[in-house]
Amino acid sequence: MTTVAAYAAPAAKAPLERTTIERRAVGEFDVLIDIKFAGICHSDIHQARDGWRPGTFPMVPGHEIAGVVSEVGPGVTKYAVGDRVGVGCMVDSCRECDNCKAGLEQYCSGGGPVWTYNGTGKDGQPTYGGYSQKIVVDQDYVVRIPDGLSLDVAAPLLCAGITTYSPLRHWNAGPGKKVAVVGLGGLGHVGVKLAHALGAEVTVLSQSLRKKDDGLKLGADHYYATSDPKTFEELAGTFDLILNTVSAPLDFAPYFSLLRTDGSMVNVGLPEEPVQIVLQTLFGNRRSVSSSGIGGIAETQEMLDFCAEHGVGAEIELISAEEINDAYERVLSSDVRYRFVIDTATI
Ligand SMILES: [Zn+2]
Ligand SMILES: [Zn+2]
Repeated sequence: MTTVAAYAAPAAKAPLERTTIERRAVGEFDVLIDIKFAGICHSDIHQARDGWRPGTFPMVPGHEIAGVVSEVGPGVTKYAVGDRVGVGCMVDSCRECDNCKAGLEQYCSGGGPVWTYNGTGKDGQPTYGGYSQKIVVDQDYVVRIPDGLSLDVAAPLLCAGITTYSPLRHWNAGPGKKVAVVGLGGLGHVGVKLAHALGAEVTVLSQSLRKKDDGLKLGADHYYATSDPKTFEELAGTFDLILNTVSAPLDFAPYFSLLRTDGSMVNVGLPEEPVQIVLQTLFGNRRSVSSSGIGGIAETQEMLDFCAEHGVGAEIELISAEEINDAYERVLSSDVRYRFVIDTATI
């Protein structure tokens, strides 16, 4: 066991504070990672504040982890000391179910994946995330960060990147396809960069035109305000795919009307309350609505390699650990361009 400095929420809705946690000894197939950067994901706030389900406290959030391997177990073959690596939302899964075998570990049906924090490890102990200086992870749930990507801008790709990349790939975003990204926040801004790099024609649908210049710089071809009813008239029947990154509940019907025949609206932001869908708004054009959660380990590696090749990183604001609580408030008021990343040396 190693004692490690961390930032934790001692109880639901309590401010995060500095503490220490124990990391397990490095096992046969484990790597010890010196965490350099940890992104702040909106879901960290949902969980630290019990938005989705009762959490386990103290809670050390953080599932956008970038760092350097500092020790490996005797059975480790994939990584060596000094390698630049990342860890995303999960640190293990059953490895035996159909989903795990198909590289869809995030949908593990053998009890679900072991989440990086606010979960229970196979040793029965609570898992603690990236707002800490070190983490021990099985090599099979670690990904390599290519040399072309800086660790700080790579960190948010471990959740925001794969959460948008996986549905863009699954629903075939690419040349000749019209893709809309709803919301230009932590997820949305990466979604725009990725959809553009994949070759799709990209439209941002945002509440206002406040971030229009940014959106176009990030790679959007068009930018519309959803507060303007004319947007919905002008874009009716346009999109093959709408990627909704907003976690606040939406009135879905106007968005469905923007889909062409067989178009899909995929939701990766999760509202805390149930949403209502009127099926008639899908019926007329065989439209689909669905949701998608992160991506598998192999796909996460594919995403990082794609990002390195296409020069895609997150736009970040680097903060020290003592700024985490303020950063949470700023995320909730959409006052970040576009992802907070903690310099974990300051923990
Ligand atoms: Zn996340
Ligand atoms: Zn499984």
